[in-house]
Amino acid sequence: MNEITHFINGEHVKGTSGRFADVLNPATGDVQAKVPLASKDELAKAIEIAKEAQIAWGNTNAQRRGRVMMKFVELLHRDMDKLAEALSREHGKTLPDAKGDVVRGLEVAEFSIGAPHFMKGEYSAAASTGIDIYSMRQPLGVVAGITPFNFPAMIPMWKFCPAIAAGNAFILKPSERDPSVPNMLAELMIEAGLPKGVLNVVHGDKEAVDGILDHEDIQAIGFVGSTPIAEYIYSRGSANGKRVQCFGGAKNHMIIMPDADIEQAVDALVGAGYGAAGERCMAISVAVPVGKETADKLVAALKPRVEALRVGPYTEGDNVDFGPLVTGDALKRVTGLVDKGVEEGADLVVDGRGFKHSTNPDGFFIGPCLFDNVTEGMDIYKEEIFGPVLSVMRAETYEDAVGYAMRHEYGNGVAIFTRDGDTARDFTHRINVGMVGVNVPIPVPLAYYTFGGWKRSGFGDLNQHGPDAFRFYTRTKTVTSRWPSGVKEGASFTIPVME
Ligand code: NAD
Repeated sequence: MNEITHFINGEHVKGTSGRFADVLNPATGDVQAKVPLASKDELAKAIEIAKEAQIAWGNTNAQRRGRVMMKFVELLHRDMDKLAEALSREHGKTLPDAKGDVVRGLEVAEFSIGAPHFMKGEYSAAASTGIDIYSMRQPLGVVAGITPFNFPAMIPMWKFCPAIAAGNAFILKPSERDPSVPNMLAELMIEAGLPKGVLNVVHGDKEAVDGILDHEDIQAIGFVGSTPIAEYIYSRGSANGKRVQCFGGAKNHMIIMPDADIEQAVDALVGAGYGAAGERCMAISVAVPVGKETADKLVAALKPRVEALRVGPYTEGDNVDFGPLVTGDALKRVTGLVDKGVEEGADLVVDGRGFKHSTNPDGFFIGPCLFDNVTEGMDIYKEEIFGPVLSVMRAETYEDAVGYAMRHEYGNGVAIFTRDGDTARDFTHRINVGMVGVNVPIPVPLAYYTFGGWKRSGFGDLNQHGPDAFRFYTRTKTVTSRWPSGVKEGASFTIPVME
């Protein structure tokens, strides 16, 4: 049995807590490794090492820090196949999708090469007579990232690339379900020239997470995962005086207007609803056609396309559209929600329950499911299913469709398909959701913009990547300076005002 290690101070370190979690191969159902679950003491040692390493790293000029990112990008390209294979083996997504996972993280590493620019402050010469005011951005110290299973390469990189380029040391607590790629990324950072101890990967569960939330030397926490945990981490971390940003679950609507190109909308729904088995926070899980005619046309066109989707292990390469769910528990949960939808009275147009793959019968596979006539009160509408299940919720008017998305508790992503600029403009301005697509189903912004949901999809301030990431992982110091030649009038006991 392969025993995964922590990665601390540039080295592989065996777990000493005596607690482990199984790492599964979702395509076969086998346990392929065990991952150590850190105790608070193991975590505290890693934080101590990070704290020491941060001093020199924070004093290294930002351009040199950016060069480590530049080399890291080159190494990610070199090891792309290896990373994608390790990722698919533990997560289950197809190889091309696993490469996409690495690439969308790599782009944030590329963005972080620009650290010198983002660390720049402001300067006002002669703000008052003989007085200059300037500001500088400084790293926070030791910061942490707690990340989910569904993007084991991209999301750790969203967190540690800008944080480290800004001069912080980093503790990464990745998902215990697919822990290998985060370790590989940390090894590559060392190869790229990062001093030991600046990036540490500590595997674990609630115990390690609580350790991060309570440790006095952790200055900031970036979390991505489900909403209940996001809310917990936000409350406990901020109660402990830390800077915390937490991104949670989603229920992303795609509105299809009567003037939309139905073929294009169907292509978009099939890819965005079922890609990665629906295990994406930006997956489209609700299609909202406007008007009966649009809805009938859409469902008629969707049904054969959904039925034709190919489900299988990543080892089958291009012959597979999506893979298994991540665990047997996830399979049980998603199947249970589909059962619930049937009980609630939604029409199950395509039923993927009970799907068995011919060569991998014990893999955690479920076939694609398509519901029609889903309504606002149903649990399958209210809850994030996080599986290959698309719900069609019919709206009579544009206003009804917008109302559904506006009232839903989640506000991560949303899309509208239309040929009408006026409708699209009204929608983008009015909708209370963080990321909006116009004829684009998965509007994940590129690295130089920021990513973040609204409502119960995001807690705290500032978004991920883009300029916000540098703001989140730095603090501003403002200096008001006057040189001795300007001090002539002696002490002053009134508040200084501009002269
Ligand atoms: P999760 O909440 O189960 O786990 C996320 C992290 O929290 C993991 O590192 C895990 O070890 C830790 N954790 C789990 N239970 C904990 C507990 N009780 N106490 C402390 N820590 C705990 O999420 P997941 O299943 O790994 O990921 C899927 C979820 O993430 C979905 O809800 C998805 O929408 C969301 N997600 C959101 C975004 C976004 O940017 N909004 C992006 C990707 C995924």
